[in-house]
Amino acid sequence: MELYIAGGVGEHGRNCFYVKTNNKCFLVDCGVMASDLEDPYPYLTKEDIEKLNAVFITHSHGDHIGALSWLFDQGFKGELIASKETLSQMPFEGSNVISLESICPNGKGYYIGLSINWGRTGHCPGGVWYHFFKDDKSILFSGDYIEDSIVFECDLIRDKTADLAVIDSAYGYNDTNYVISCDKLINKTKELLDKYGLLLFPVPRYGRGVELLKLFSDNLENVNYYGDEHFLNQVEKVNKGGFWYKPVSIDVSIKLYTGENKGIVFVSNPQLKTKSSKVIAKEVINLGGYGILTGTVEKGTYGAKLLKKGKMEFIRYPVHLNYGEYLDVTRENYFKESIPYHSFDLPKEKDRYKI
Ligand SMILES: [Zn+2]
Ligand SMILES: [Zn+2]
Repeated sequence: MELYIAGGVGEHGRNCFYVKTNNKCFLVDCGVMASDLEDPYPYLTKEDIEKLNAVFITHSHGDHIGALSWLFDQGFKGELIASKETLSQMPFEGSNVISLESICPNGKGYYIGLSINWGRTGHCPGGVWYHFFKDDKSILFSGDYIEDSIVFECDLIRDKTADLAVIDSAYGYNDTNYVISCDKLINKTKELLDKYGLLLFPVPRYGRGVELLKLFSDNLENVNYYGDEHFLNQVEKVNKGGFWYKPVSIDVSIKLYTGENKGIVFVSNPQLKTKSSKVIAKEVINLGGYGILTGTVEKGTYGAKLLKKGKMEFIRYPVHLNYGEYLDVTRENYFKESIPYHSFDLPKEKDRYKI
C-alpha cells in the first residue's frame, strides 16, 4: 500500500489522503482549505483523480468534504462512501453513493479488495474512523476524533495494529485538556452572560453545538436558551437517542429565537457565512449582546469581522485531540508509523509513504 498526502498535514483544512494498493486507488476525505481562496483544493492531478475507485468520507464538515464537487468536476467516477448519517447531511445523491453500513455492517466488511473496520469518532453524528487492510498491511485514519464527547459515542481506537496511522492532532502544541477547557468555557460564559445578558454561539450544523447546550444546561442556572430551527432539530435528535448518541438527555427547554434580549442563542453556522445566521448575529449585537466562537475562525467571514470589532471572542470547546493526546493514542496501539494531521504546529515530513 502507498499513501500520498494530498492535504491536511501541516495545515488546518483540505484533509485528503490518497491510498494506492496494487490494483485500486481510493481517497479518505476530500476537503477544502476555506481560508485559501486562490488554492483551496487538495493536491491531486486529473490523472490521480481518474484512477480513483472510491472516496471514503469520515464526516460531513467542509474541511473533509468541501472539495467533492470539484473532484466530480475533475472527472471522478468512483464510489462515494460514508455512514448513512453522514450521507444524510451531505448534498450528494446518486447511484455512485454507497452507505458504509451496507458494505460494512456492524463495523466490519470487505470492499474493492480491502478489508475494512470502522468505528464512531465522538466528533459529530455520523463521524467515523477507518482501518483498511490489504494482504498483510494496514492503514488507519482516525478522522476528526475525540474521546471525551459528552453527547456523541466514540469507539475508542485501542490495541490496533497498523503499519501506518493518520491521527487527529488538530490542537497541536496547545496542551489544555478537555476538562480544563470546559471549565474555562463555563466560567467565561457565566461572566459574559452577567455582563451582556445575551450571548450568541455560532456552531456547526452537525457537532459541538448540542454539546455546548448540554454543558451549559448542566452547569449554569436560570438561563433561557434559543436556537434556529436546525439547531432545535439537532437537540431533538440527541434526546431521541440512537446509535450515534450517548444515552444522555438535554433537560432544558429551548425555543426558536425571535429577538429576545436575555439568554443564550445558538445559530447553526460556525463562521456566520449564511444570510440567515448573519441576520440573527446582527440582531443579537444590536440588542447589546456579545458572541462566542468555539471553533477555528476563518479569515474574511462575518464571524472574523465581529471578532476584530470586539463584538465576539474565541473560547475553545474541544472536538479534536492535541499533540499530547495524539501521543497517548499512539501509545495505546501498535502503529509502526504514525502521522499527526490537522495542525499547523506539526509540519508535513514527507508526501509519500510506502508500507
Ligand atoms: Zn470536523
Ligand atoms: Zn476537520
